[in-house]
Amino acid sequence: MATAADTIAFQTIPHPAPTSEADRTAMLANPGFGTQFTDHMVSIDWVEGKGWHNPTVGPRGPIALDPAAAVLHYAQEIFEGLKAYRHPDGTVALFRPEQNAQRFNRSADRLAMPHLPEELFLGAIDAILSVDGGWIPDGDGASLYLRPFMFANEAFLGVRPAKQYKFLLIASPAGNYFKSGAPAVSIWVSSDYTRAAPGGTGAAKCGGNYAASLVPQAEAIERGFDQVVFLDAVERKWIEELGGMNLFFVFDDGRVITPPLTGTILPGITRDSLIDLLREEGLTVVEERYSIDDWQSDANSGKLVECFACGTAAVVTPVGRVAGRDRDFTIGTGGPGQLTGRLKDRLTGIQRGQLPDTQGWVR
Ligand code: PMP
Repeated sequence: MATAADTIAFQTIPHPAPTSEADRTAMLANPGFGTQFTDHMVSIDWVEGKGWHNPTVGPRGPIALDPAAAVLHYAQEIFEGLKAYRHPDGTVALFRPEQNAQRFNRSADRLAMPHLPEELFLGAIDAILSVDGGWIPDGDGASLYLRPFMFANEAFLGVRPAKQYKFLLIASPAGNYFKSGAPAVSIWVSSDYTRAAPGGTGAAKCGGNYAASLVPQAEAIERGFDQVVFLDAVERKWIEELGGMNLFFVFDDGRVITPPLTGTILPGITRDSLIDLLREEGLTVVEERYSIDDWQSDANSGKLVECFACGTAAVVTPVGRVAGRDRDFTIGTGGPGQLTGRLKDRLTGIQRGQLPDTQGWVR
């Protein structure tokens, strides 16, 4: 089958010393998350007046940056995250990658960066998979995590959009995001920090958002919780999202609520897909604001029966316990609920080629 990479000429730079098959097999047996990397990376440059040029796929390694590179001072940087799966028939599959390409360009808009044409984004993925396809691990929950990103590499001190950027794509074999064995995650409600304000960059996938989430996330870990949940910046009342996942709430009458895309949360591709799958099951999904006080009282009354977080890395993960400065409550049994488990199986089944792709999501 012709791929985007066939029509875009990515120059291949041979790798002088790729990882041996024995070493790779050992690495793939225990991939962890985000600590191991494949042999190659894709690189494309952009300069004002010239546009995108010099697409290459070559050895992964350090890159030269001028100390005045704008990204190091003004944080013009955006990224994406998606996974490649090995299907039972041996083919390599991606889940809705065009959605990542489009979100990348929405992030670029917000950070005053150039658009990367969708076919270049998809072509870059095809190019790295054509050389590093052997790095997709097998096994439960395993995949090859793809990290496309773009940053301003113009040497310039001054606050204005840079005139030069680099796009890179690296890949990392990955196992489960959360340590296996944990039936559900526990969540700490941040009272001192928010993630995004109206008019800010909350809906963009830019590095700065994650830098700002590190202190509140550390606070959660210090208290013995897995993740932090952020409330809205204006009233400190409405539930927004976790540091890297969207949230869903399941009620005893079959209704499901997820916070709306008002510009302060990341529009998750998993979130969007789960809304479709839930509606296909005949459930009513509403995108509306849900308050932290209601979360607590509905969990205590039993009206809220399940809650789960979702994202590419963590897939679908039940939320068991929630605590904050003045609250501590458990949802349902504190373990995985029925709908959460069923949705996770459905989504991963489609992604991994074990269930029919009725939505046409798999590429
Ligand atoms: N929210 C944030 C802040 C995230 O970083 C992510 C991960 N990209 C998500 C939600 C989930 O998005 P997706 O389902 O597209 O991975």
